[in-house]
Amino acid sequence: MSASPVSLDQAPFQNSFADALRADPSRELQPRQVPGYHYSPVTPTAVRDPHLLAWSEELAAELGLSRPPTRGPAVEVLAGNRVLPSMRPFAARYGGHQFGNWAGQLGDGRAMGLGELPAPDGRAWEIQLKGAGPTPYSRRADGRAVLRSSLREFLCSEAMHHLGVPTTRALSLVGTGEPVVRDMFYDGNPRPEPGAVVARVAPSFVRFGNFQILAAHGETEQLRELTDYVIGRFFPELGPPSADVYVRFFGDVCRRTAVMVAHWMTVGFVHGVMNTDNMSILGLTIDYGPYGWLEPYQPDWTPNTTDFGTHRYAFGQQPRVALWNLMMLAQALSPLVADVQALRPALDEYVRVFTATRNAQLRRKLGLTRQASVDDAPLLDSLLEALAAAEVDMTVFFRRLAHRVPALLTRPAEADEALEALLTAAAYPESAAEGLRQLREWLGRYLLRLRQEPADAAGIGAGMLAANPKYVLRNYLAAQAIEAAEAGDLAPLNRLFEVLKRPFDEQPEHEELAAKRPEWAREKPGSATLSCSS
Ligand code: AMP
Ligand code: MG
Repeated sequence: MSASPVSLDQAPFQNSFADALRADPSRELQPRQVPGYHYSPVTPTAVRDPHLLAWSEELAAELGLSRPPTRGPAVEVLAGNRVLPSMRPFAARYGGHQFGNWAGQLGDGRAMGLGELPAPDGRAWEIQLKGAGPTPYSRRADGRAVLRSSLREFLCSEAMHHLGVPTTRALSLVGTGEPVVRDMFYDGNPRPEPGAVVARVAPSFVRFGNFQILAAHGETEQLRELTDYVIGRFFPELGPPSADVYVRFFGDVCRRTAVMVAHWMTVGFVHGVMNTDNMSILGLTIDYGPYGWLEPYQPDWTPNTTDFGTHRYAFGQQPRVALWNLMMLAQALSPLVADVQALRPALDEYVRVFTATRNAQLRRKLGLTRQASVDDAPLLDSLLEALAAAEVDMTVFFRRLAHRVPALLTRPAEADEALEALLTAAAYPESAAEGLRQLREWLGRYLLRLRQEPADAAGIGAGMLAANPKYVLRNYLAAQAIEAAEAGDLAPLNRLFEVLKRPFDEQPEHEELAAKRPEWAREKPGSATLSCSS
């Protein structure tokens, strides 16, 4: 299978999206409406000094690419300074509901698809540059991205992949050598920041919003073309298009979205901006902006300052927001199906798949494998309630539990003491005594249930360690890596990137990266709170 790796600037690109869909005939870069078309052909705007800051070896291996030197032709491609003859760069036209309101045309305002790279394993991956300059969809903004948000996207997309969460990937982080001015907290303090470009990678970056904009404008033929393209390329098993196939396609999108959100809820990921333009049609986590990782288990928590008023996109809201977004997608697809009601069962299926997937993952995290004879759902629901009442660190709680379970099962006399140590390790100052009591009581019930498991104690513990990450991209760790990178020190970024590739491994030499959030980081801007400024 594996041909020897090639340098990106030698790679042959294909252009299925650009070939299959309607291109805007205008080359005008001016912000404008683009009715009737799926995308606008664009050219990236070159930057002063493109240099490689970070590179994903794992993804590159999947793509059959060799690591480029810090400067040179491949990095010029990754910055948008060089467009290969086989590429037809484009900015996609999409719309979306932002915070519940229809926002009209949005589109790739700073992202550009370069085309698809056929990988050695036969799959094709779209490579998209984020921050490569203005497009007709840039509205009032500059088409650029700052290092801080680009580094966060680069780190988190790869970390999510290694946690087993469906996600877009990131191949490279390239510094541009040009400043980008941003008012980070929208408080009248704009300052120049280092600019960067991330090369993102996914089978496709099509979003719910690509369908929505066409439906909103009554562009039914274009809507059908986009849907047929997506089905033909990514859901070929559904067969040739028909009203029935569109219904089944929507069902698949509902199921994939349910699986993605179930993962978020069991690793403690808060997307932060679940607008419909940030929802992938392939059920991938997409558009890493003001996301965050849950530290104290607080369902109402969001890191996104823009959402502090309503908490619409808080951790605990995500399952129902995804459902609402799917309803908006159903509305957009309705011109293609004879009877809109036919789309309704898929929404019920979303709820069923979400609950089943989340519960299966929670059972794995808890070492519960015995099937059918017991219904664990009430035990799982009461765990989530107790975690919310106790506000302990989710990641530390599960990881420590995994470590302690073998001893709890074999030496029940020491159980009380062990559980106290577990709760102390996971607790934050805000953790409430009453909540901790609830969690202690839950642990007692859990141990009784665990004793019904057929596997031996060591086997259960090992299974749990493989299901509960030790290392996640804690908000303050990302902030520290950014601070260092902005000062020219890439070591913290590289270390974090390496450690997060093996989140379930002990890696004792990196123990401090598994520590729960220190008190100084509690309210720190850029750590506990983030804006959409990027
Ligand atoms: P987001 O909130 O990042 O999902 O972005 C919402 C919309 O704003 C999308 O259409 C983006 O392409 C656009 N956008 C965000 N930042 C920029 C920027 N710096 N330049 C141009 N467009 C942007
Ligand atoms: Mg977006």
